[in-house]
Amino acid sequence: MILTKIPIHMCENFHNTFSGSTEKTFNICRGCGGECEHNKIGTLLPGEKEYMAAKLGISVSEFKGRYLDFLEMDDGTRIDVLKLGKLCPFLNRETEECGCREFKPILCKIYPVVFKVEGERVNFIIDSWCQLSMKKECRSYFEAAIPLFLALPVPAEWFRYVASYDDLCFDYDQLKKHRRGKNPCEVFSLKELLDLQKGDSGAERLQIYSKMEIEGLMV
Ligand code: SF4
Ligand code: SF4
Repeated sequence: MILTKIPIHMCENFHNTFSGSTEKTFNICRGCGGECEHNKIGTLLPGEKEYMAAKLGISVSEFKGRYLDFLEMDDGTRIDVLKLGKLCPFLNRETEECGCREFKPILCKIYPVVFKVEGERVNFIIDSWCQLSMKKECRSYFEAAIPLFLALPVPAEWFRYVASYDDLCFDYDQLKKHRRGKNPCEVFSLKELLDLQKGDSGAERLQIYSKMEIEGLMV
């Protein structure tokens, strides 16, 4: 399936409206040490690679080679994800700062807001695994990003695909062994990925989700 791309100007508007951090959230993240960096897969929306490549002033094909892998769903649809490895290709190892903070993937920017698909509904939730969820002020800050996200023309099928792996944690060491090598931009099947979950992920993590369903969207 070809997913309809979100236009570049809509990505730009989102980033201009929601910065994704405040002094308070920044300090909490600094204290946490970036746990989400080691566990979550960075998924891009359809159209985001074009937007990010434009922000970096490079071609989409160069962007793919440097920063992306693909997850291939059972029906052959490919989802763009940040290169799967222990550290995100945008993470500065010395400063531990995100190298694309102003135009990072929108799912990175709104985290700890995550979503689950239940039937025909997408429910947005605050991931209680993240320390930001413990402060009301921070929760409110990120909850404000949900209507902005919902205003983007995100294809319904994209939600379903991403929901099939987004709340899981993976063993990136094992995943590295599956990298067949020569292509800088690798394609991993969903099955391949799901076979490489870490023990503390999936159902166990879902159980500790807070049940704050903030807003739903019929898909
Ligand atoms: S977003 Fe949450 S998990 Fe990630 S660095 Fe900040 S506090 Fe830690
Ligand atoms: S793009 Fe930035 S925020 Fe997202 S995983 Fe990479 S370093 Fe972290």
